[in-house]
Amino acid sequence: MEIKQFKPRYIYRFGRAQADGDGSMGEELGGKGAALAEMTKMGLPVPPGFTISCNACRYYLEHGDIPESLDAELEAALGWLELEQVQWLGSENDPLLLSVRSGAAVSMPGMMDTILNVGINDANVSGLAAKHGNVQFALDSYRRLLQMFGSVVLEIPKQAFDRAVEDARVLPKPAAHFDEMTLRKIIAAFQKVIEQTTGSPFPMNPRAQLRQAVEAVFQSWNNERARHYRRIHGIPENSGTAVTVQAMVFGNYGLNSGTGVGFTRNPSTGEREMFAEFLPNAQGEDIVAGIRTPMPIAELERTMNPVYRRLHSVTSKLECHYRDVQDFEFTVQNGELFLLQTRSAKRSALAKLRCAVEMVEEGLISRREALERVAPADIDEILAQQLDLRDDSLKPMAKGLAASPGSAVGQLALTADRAIELAGKHKQSPIILVRQETTADDIHGMDAAVGFLTAHGGATSHAAVVARGMGKCCITGASGIFADEGAGVLRIGEHILKEGDWLSLDGSTGRVFPGQLPLRGSESFDNPHLTKLLSWARECSTTKVRANADTPQDAMRARDASAVGIGLCRTEHMFFAKERLAHIRSMILASTLAAREEALALLLPVQQSDFEALFHAMPGLPVTIRLIDPPLHEFLPSEMAVRDELAQARLRETGSQEVVQLEELLTRVQQLSESNPMLGLRGCRLGIVHPEILVVQIKAILQAALRVKGGGVEVLPEIMVPLVACVEEVRHLRKLIEDTASAVFHQQGRRIDYRIGVMIELPRAAVCAEEIAREVDFMSFGTNDLTQLTFGFSRDDAHKYLDAYLELGILKHNPFLTIDREGVGSLIEMAVGRARAANPKIKIGICGEHGGDPASIAFFESVGVDYVSCSPARIPIAQLSAAQTSLAREPIKHRDQEGVTGIAISAPVIATVDDDEPFELQSYGT
Ligand code: PEP
Ligand code: MG
Repeated sequence: MEIKQFKPRYIYRFGRAQADGDGSMGEELGGKGAALAEMTKMGLPVPPGFTISCNACRYYLEHGDIPESLDAELEAALGWLELEQVQWLGSENDPLLLSVRSGAAVSMPGMMDTILNVGINDANVSGLAAKHGNVQFALDSYRRLLQMFGSVVLEIPKQAFDRAVEDARVLPKPAAHFDEMTLRKIIAAFQKVIEQTTGSPFPMNPRAQLRQAVEAVFQSWNNERARHYRRIHGIPENSGTAVTVQAMVFGNYGLNSGTGVGFTRNPSTGEREMFAEFLPNAQGEDIVAGIRTPMPIAELERTMNPVYRRLHSVTSKLECHYRDVQDFEFTVQNGELFLLQTRSAKRSALAKLRCAVEMVEEGLISRREALERVAPADIDEILAQQLDLRDDSLKPMAKGLAASPGSAVGQLALTADRAIELAGKHKQSPIILVRQETTADDIHGMDAAVGFLTAHGGATSHAAVVARGMGKCCITGASGIFADEGAGVLRIGEHILKEGDWLSLDGSTGRVFPGQLPLRGSESFDNPHLTKLLSWARECSTTKVRANADTPQDAMRARDASAVGIGLCRTEHMFFAKERLAHIRSMILASTLAAREEALALLLPVQQSDFEALFHAMPGLPVTIRLIDPPLHEFLPSEMAVRDELAQARLRETGSQEVVQLEELLTRVQQLSESNPMLGLRGCRLGIVHPEILVVQIKAILQAALRVKGGGVEVLPEIMVPLVACVEEVRHLRKLIEDTASAVFHQQGRRIDYRIGVMIELPRAAVCAEEIAREVDFMSFGTNDLTQLTFGFSRDDAHKYLDAYLELGILKHNPFLTIDREGVGSLIEMAVGRARAANPKIKIGICGEHGGDPASIAFFESVGVDYVSCSPARIPIAQLSAAQTSLAREPIKHRDQEGVTGIAISAPVIATVDDDEPFELQSYGT
């Protein structure tokens, strides 16, 4: 039947494979309304209905009343739906019953309200029972309406209904098992609760029920939990929710009926398997609320195989249609399947990664899309630490469902408010929120906690869904636990834990351990999906990623992470090992040049062997080695420590050799002491005053390079001079490097190519980048010092006032973590421009902490640096960020690069499903 042309302003209908709206109208119809329209058009089994748009809600929130024309539109849409269903709202014999559900443009699971079974009253409940030949079903639907209407529309506390159930002397059985007598008592009790609490009886007029339900859903946009959810997820305050009014289908129709929620792939691991749960003889709210633990979908496969096969087929179609993992809701009424919702599934970071990569391999999405679907923060999460469970004696005290992966170690809180209290203002204490089941009212406590544990609920319960959305670890359905909120304790077998006690969750296996278990680095560095995604990332990013690696071990990790070289080796870090510190101290304490050179000669082989290891780890790749940077006093003990030691030595024996040495040490420490060491004798200044130190380092670098090259390994040494301010410094040290190199090559009878570069860490150097660039092969921005010296904020002490700056909004973010685009960024941009104009061949990099920060990488890419360099642990994040930035900047070029980032599909994708014809996908590509 063709839908009659009807141009709704606020209402969009869907039914019988026709719909006024479609899937692209999420902003107007909300995610749910748009998806219902789209599914209807796809010919999937969706009960007919209509969606009142978000515009109407916005109007309502602004004016406190529904728009004038909405009443008429509502009447017209209702009339249309009655004809569709051949049922009439309020009819005594065969009433049309409705669900009234919220649905914003951005999904906010469980945050707003839903009212089911609208349209039942005292006058038609018997007719409903007679029509369906099922008294229990009709009564159960009525008591659900009373309860939902009472709590959502009339805002009566949930406890009032729980008490009424107790007063009706019902045994605490699951709601599906109430018998007729009990249901009648409960209905009477609920009606009494409503009348006594509000002073008015429950509205028997179905149109009044509908009107009030719609308004209640509008109002639920501003309930406390929805507001909190929007704050956490940065959802605009004014977008409003749509309301979908739909003909009811009944999962509480008996054992051949039920309701379920599911995912087309496992939302926790990403595995390609339908992952769903089903609750027989129940309505949707029962699952999401986690009150009854649903059964795995395999049970549906066993007991209602045709329904299971149909569900599998339909949801596979949905996944192919949307080209993304779907999270769906369904109801089975008397063996017939209906879909009630579909949306892109919230999934764990691990699942995001796996689904993205596998969907490329299945030909469903392009590599570009896969790269865009995983956020740098997801990589952080995937590489996050895991519980260290290597100690075999560790025994879990409970086990539940591994609902959201990762680990959490924290202190127990039994309520959302306690979680907030224990976590502290800045969430400084890790908290694990343990509940019998969580509800949308717990959202603020879930925000404060690092992990959740619930006694009830399955992998699709509220706690599980929220955890995956927030990227937190969660275990649900741990049946052996009792969160005794009243007594303030958690009972697990013989264990009794008080609030504040520590416990540890392993979200990947669902195990709960007592106490504060240690954490260790994740194994996920070897994750094959991550490896693949990052290989695609590297192929398409213009900005390359190198590593900051000071030791051979760091260099090996960097190579494992496919860094394309070392961007910064801080040579002084090689001296901090105890036995090496002695050499450098005797070099510093040497009173004559000859003595100093003697001490330095001992350092040379040590450094050379480290450099050899770095070159071996990076065959054919550039290795940037920075000449010594920190002031020499950093290698000596503090004046106070020397004085203490001296006093004790004097007590033991005045005038001893030890005392003389300590006195000399004290004098040297005092000589080297500076009132402002960060602006003192460091960086290239140190090398200008003490060239003999640099000479040894340069020799060590070049001798190492020659040796490794002699062994057949290609080496690309880059010698970097730190903290330059003016071009004369650069010229002076360039000569020192070249003279030393000539001496080494002459002595060895072989030469090697090497590059000379500088670090730009001082604003003056950035301003004078043009002149400096003419003297060097590369420059690398040391953004830590550049930030320190541009702001005049001490790197070591700024934390004492940065918090206040951030809280007052004087700064938007910590400039030591994310580059300050306006100030430091402008200096970099200007310097890059000037340097390239003066020396088009110059290579330009970044080697401060910002080199591993996604937002900063986006900026660096935009000003055209060649590479960023970051610690080995940040390399995957930097590689992904660099790729995403490159893709965002060059959409056309990359779209056309088949096989790299563009269309990875060469043949149409055929989705094969159980009981349906294979079908061809309509649209895909980038
Ligand atoms: C920098 O200043 O950004 C830098 C990389 O050098 P360091 O952190 O060693 O001072
Ligand atoms: Mg520096």
